[in-house]
Amino acid sequence: MEYKYIIFDCFGTLVSDDEINIKGKLLREKLSETENLVFVAHWRDWHRNSYLLEKFIGDIADTGLFNDEKIALIKDRVTIESLSLYEEVLPTLRSLKEKGYKLAILSNAPPSVKELYKNKKDLNVLIEEVFWSCDLGCGKPEKQIFKVVIDSLKCKADEVLYVGDSYENDYLGAKNAGIDSILIDRQKRFNLKNSIEDLSELIDLV
Ligand SMILES: [Mg+2]
Repeated sequence: MEYKYIIFDCFGTLVSDDEINIKGKLLREKLSETENLVFVAHWRDWHRNSYLLEKFIGDIADTGLFNDEKIALIKDRVTIESLSLYEEVLPTLRSLKEKGYKLAILSNAPPSVKELYKNKKDLNVLIEEVFWSCDLGCGKPEKQIFKVVIDSLKCKADEVLYVGDSYENDYLGAKNAGIDSILIDRQKRFNLKNSIEDLSELIDLV
């Protein structure tokens, strides 16, 4: 299949999610089951709506459920200082561009990530279009978000390849929208027919 666009997930695919995973694990251990449910609900809402970190934290504090220590932990969990790329990302993206592919990003992300991306020049010069769930009012794995993206790129579903590290949000989400998808499986947890361990494997696959 001749693809026009290759679209990437951001965290865990192009950008390391190690820091987020460590902080996430720490937070889950500190929160009760109910607190965790409430945190996750607000977290998902923030990924689908464009408002500031201060409102996100304010809304959580307004529930009256969390003490100051827990609010500080939540704030730390959702604050990312910088985007750290996996080492093969830039050479791989350059090779794919040389082969004639246009590159895009579709990410479930809160508005705070957009600023970091804007300053991440080595990455953003290689990317044609970026789609953030917080701007679109929906998120992966919903079919709607994939449809919005391909419409906006003026592509058909079969002209696009989607690459991501989440089985549900990326691999299955894209497939359900009629888009070919490849799972990036850095820890070799899945070993699917359509999985790769390193993004550079894409160069020979497409
Ligand atoms: Mg991801």
